[in-house]
Amino acid sequence: MKNFSNRFGVIRGLGITLGHFINTYIVDIREGKKRYETAEGIQERTQANTQGIFTVQYPEERIPLPEEFRVLPFLVYDEGENGAKNLRCTACGICAKVCPPQCIWIARATDPATGKPSPHPAEFSIDVDICMNCGFCAEYCPFDAIKMDHDFELAGYERGAAHLFNKEHLMKPASYYESIRPANAAREAAARAEKAKPRP
Ligand code: SF4
Ligand code: SF4
Repeated sequence: MKNFSNRFGVIRGLGITLGHFINTYIVDIREGKKRYETAEGIQERTQANTQGIFTVQYPEERIPLPEEFRVLPFLVYDEGENGAKNLRCTACGICAKVCPPQCIWIARATDPATGKPSPHPAEFSIDVDICMNCGFCAEYCPFDAIKMDHDFELAGYERGAAHLFNKEHLMKPASYYESIRPANAAREAAARAEKAKPRP
């Protein structure tokens, strides 16, 4: 009896797969185009009620990432005159303090003229093997200076020094941040503009 039920389960499973396979072509014929090759079709494959193919031929096809998708943090810089990369980070150390596995290291810069600490990071490193992608650093940063990246294609052949991302490696322009998280970037820009308004 158990054997019969197992076989029935396999046949039922194959039937579902066959149904999706046939439906892929039926939808194409009904809509008069290869729907499942369009961006809209790829997006639809992630839905529970999709009728046709529900797998993706990665890396040729990619499911669009939701805005809140997060992998590793990066440091945001604003582009200044003559190609200057003005990091927003003030080396306040809050992100390092709240980081649960303590994988952020920051060294504050020193003003060469006065010898006093300057609000910039001389060094900023993250051990990406320890980072657990929680996003706390980005949540707590008061200057919108560290944000969570969408880039998940990070495989490499070396697992030592290459996994300790330094300041240069972590730096990305604000325009990149705006491209991956447009709603967040717009909301934060509006909040900064409001804060900068002169008080009556
Ligand atoms: S990234 Fe933000 S929280 Fe972290 S040290 Fe820089 S300014 Fe402070
Ligand atoms: S994402 Fe979380 S674990 Fe990774 S550096 Fe930020 S606070 Fe630390």
